[in-house]
Amino acid sequence: MTTITRFAPSPTGLLHVGNLRTALHNWLLAKKQDGKFLLRFDDTDRERSEEAFVEAAREDLAWLGIVPDREERQSERFALYEAAFDKLREAGRVYPCYETAQELELKRKVQLGRGLPPIYDRGALALSEDERATKEAQGIEPHWRFKLDHDEPIGWNDGIRGPVKFDPAQLSDPVIRRGDGSWLYMLPSAVDDIEMGVTDVLRGEDHVSNTAAQVQMFEAMGASAPRFAHKALLVGKEGKLSKRHGSLSARALRERGLEPEALLSLLARLGTSLPVEAIVRREVLVESFDLSTFGRAPAKFDEDELDRLNAQIVHRLPFAQVAERVPEGMDQAGWEAIRPNLTRVDEAGEWWAVVTGSVVQPTMDPEE
Ligand code: GLU
Repeated sequence: MTTITRFAPSPTGLLHVGNLRTALHNWLLAKKQDGKFLLRFDDTDRERSEEAFVEAAREDLAWLGIVPDREERQSERFALYEAAFDKLREAGRVYPCYETAQELELKRKVQLGRGLPPIYDRGALALSEDERATKEAQGIEPHWRFKLDHDEPIGWNDGIRGPVKFDPAQLSDPVIRRGDGSWLYMLPSAVDDIEMGVTDVLRGEDHVSNTAAQVQMFEAMGASAPRFAHKALLVGKEGKLSKRHGSLSARALRERGLEPEALLSLLARLGTSLPVEAIVRREVLVESFDLSTFGRAPAKFDEDELDRLNAQIVHRLPFAQVAERVPEGMDQAGWEAIRPNLTRVDEAGEWWAVVTGSVVQPTMDPEE
């Protein structure tokens, strides 16, 4: 069976290095197995999704040479989600809920106060037909939850974490649809993974409990779950990365004049037991990619390390590859002479001025 992986960003901000790392790892996993890599925009949230971020993500991936074999957008696939929802509803696996956000918050507080885990109490399932009708007559639009099956433990063999087990009774039934009819991420993602034939889902460990619920969604839709692997998150100097982390966006790094190979070299192996080194040939990254080398501790993104790798790559760049980017008049000999001094190609200008400019003799004391 052909390996199919996917990178599924929500276009609600610029991609940061953590997102790029996930894209890269999925791409490497696909390439290693002669498979396919999909780019899927999880843009069901029409208010927060922006076309500019779709464009930016495409550009960022292209800059890194991560070329998808297929691109899809969830906003064009609502009919599929609707159909899956109807079936699950008929099968009694989704149910309407009428609590307000404040009511839910209060329930959670009470549970925590009693030392209990804040799991949704399935209050909505206890409503009678009449009570439900009253709520609807009051104009309350229900939100919808997926009903987890509590009978069997949920388990999968994680490509990085090994065997993972969850007691479904310890999880809240996840909300899959809001009162206004809009979709949360969980169900559309599982529907698409089935329909697109995704064989491997490699994502951050912040998704582990989502996976537990999604494993049951795959089953409820009559499909077998893909292989899952959850990697430790990438953190910056100040901790968790977010789309608001401007300086670590792909865009900012590109504008700083870094070589894509430097970023690829760092992101491919950071958090694994493989050595982080400047690697220009992608095949090397592909061949050495191996989930069993992934560690469990968060990986730390260090910009100084990125600069070091960039310098090493620049020191090896042949003139033909930089000819367009170096100062006018610089030839191969000039490039080779100054190249060892550079961290980034755009510093060539300063050095070329030193080479071609006149030398001002400093005034010196005869004694000196
Ligand atoms: N859109 C989801 C996210 O950005 C995708 C997660 C996944 O890979 O399934 O978190």
